[in-house]
Amino acid sequence: MGIKLKPAMNSPAAAEEKSLAMVLRGARAALRAEHRPLPEPAAGEVRLRVRACAVCRTDLHLQDGDLPMARWPVVPGHEVVGTVDALGAGVTDLRMGQRVGVPWLGGSCGRCRYCLAGQENLCDAPEFTGCTRDGGFATHVVARADFCVPLDHLALDDASAAPLLCAGLIGWRSLRMAGADAHVLGLYGFGAAAHLIAQVAVAQGRRVLAFTRAGDTAAQQHARELGCAWVGDSDQAPPEPLDAAILFAPVGALVPLALKAVRKGGRVVCGGIHMSDIPAFPYALLWQERQLLSAANLTRADAREFFEALRTLPPLHVHTRRYPLQAAGQAMDDLRAGRFQGAAVLMPDAP
Ligand SMILES: [Zn+2]
Ligand SMILES: [Zn+2]
Repeated sequence: MGIKLKPAMNSPAAAEEKSLAMVLRGARAALRAEHRPLPEPAAGEVRLRVRACAVCRTDLHLQDGDLPMARWPVVPGHEVVGTVDALGAGVTDLRMGQRVGVPWLGGSCGRCRYCLAGQENLCDAPEFTGCTRDGGFATHVVARADFCVPLDHLALDDASAAPLLCAGLIGWRSLRMAGADAHVLGLYGFGAAAHLIAQVAVAQGRRVLAFTRAGDTAAQQHARELGCAWVGDSDQAPPEPLDAAILFAPVGALVPLALKAVRKGGRVVCGGIHMSDIPAFPYALLWQERQLLSAANLTRADAREFFEALRTLPPLHVHTRRYPLQAAGQAMDDLRAGRFQGAAVLMPDAP
């Protein structure tokens, strides 16, 4: 590759040569800024200049040590929007400068029974962005080209697009699992995922009922503004039986509450990757063919379908709170404490 130049500090070349990454060195550690050599894409991979990366509740579970598959040290972040700035060998489907997204599923084996059955989200040997491979809390990230999502036609700026890569996609998959016939839909937990998928569901003509933490008037106000037909506390009975409920809050105690709120034959879909224990509940809550399901990860087909669907729906209002990359720790703390509506987004190019 020729001679390795050592440019003088402060020259533009010096700034280009390094990447800045916010790193977790282990469970329950704080994020730490590290200057690293630019990561090089291997065959089949691309390097992206990160333009925006949203912060997901899964990043909090990672930091808390709740994800046993995590590989330390790791750069979190799996809702990445970036532009391709280096192509690994053999990459022909993406081009330099193209805007793409990198989601949570960063790779699958392509050979296990799940991959072969079109369920790559359940792959036996998966790679997860920002968990088993470095993610987007950085100026640069390397991703498998075949798991990048082209965003050429998405009419949203980078910060607004970032939360779609997980909150939007897992919301979409959960909504599909709730069923096309789920006309009356309950959403438990009104954060990044719910605020996006509520808009999609309303645009599809569904009645959306939003359940929040008791007394969270800010979230309830937000839900009303986005077209929810009813808002209330999560332990309140809805004014009408739900056809389906989606749980985005990682609170196991919501499961029996949601089962109680759905009609006979109704579904309860758990959308999170981690949840506190589900308390014991009487079988009568599940009986009458109610179904309890979980949505895990997402497939590339989900991504294609979701971004295609967005082209036919009214524009989404994506509520973001933007932080400079180095304030990633603050963004995680604010998410944990529920200090904003919508999604936190890290902006590496912000001053
Ligand atoms: Zn996520
Ligand atoms: Zn597989």
